[in-house]
Amino acid sequence: MSQGDASVRERLHQAGLRVTGPRQAVLEWLASHPHATADEIGRGVRANTRPVSRQAVYDVLAVCADAGLVRWFEPAGHPARYERNTGDNHHHLVCRGCGRIDDVEGAIGAQPCLAVGEDRGYELDVAEVVFWGVCPDCSSAAVPGGDAASHPSDHEEERQ
Ligand SMILES: [Zn+2]
Ligand SMILES: [Zn+2]
Repeated sequence: MSQGDASVRERLHQAGLRVTGPRQAVLEWLASHPHATADEIGRGVRANTRPVSRQAVYDVLAVCADAGLVRWFEPAGHPARYERNTGDNHHHLVCRGCGRIDDVEGAIGAQPCLAVGEDRGYELDVAEVVFWGVCPDCSSAAVPGGDAASHPSDHEEERQ
């Protein structure tokens, strides 16, 4: 583990980034914990390998996102979620109830939705699509009133 994941070092090199301890640690942890928030990443990395400040985690995420190694998205009402950029342009299912996030392959083929801009002269490279709904756990839990899917802030109501 102290040597780190060779593929992480390789990816940093390929992206033209210096290999640093925090960058390696964050990318390695993210590989097995997709869709983590920056705080979760900080806690995970600290528990796993090394002391790393909150700011250092944000710095690593910003640099790696700029370099295309990390992608992130921010579902309305939730903190930003980060994951390793695997280049597959997958989309996300988000549960309005518990905030659970699942990957879903593009709706049409491997590079979905990217043809839409052609007739407007755009060359698109990424489609960020978030499907909102209710996950199996939440839909099987009886919801009095049954309107858990009405808007993203409904998860607030669970605490009342
Ligand atoms: Zn749920
Ligand atoms: Zn994902």
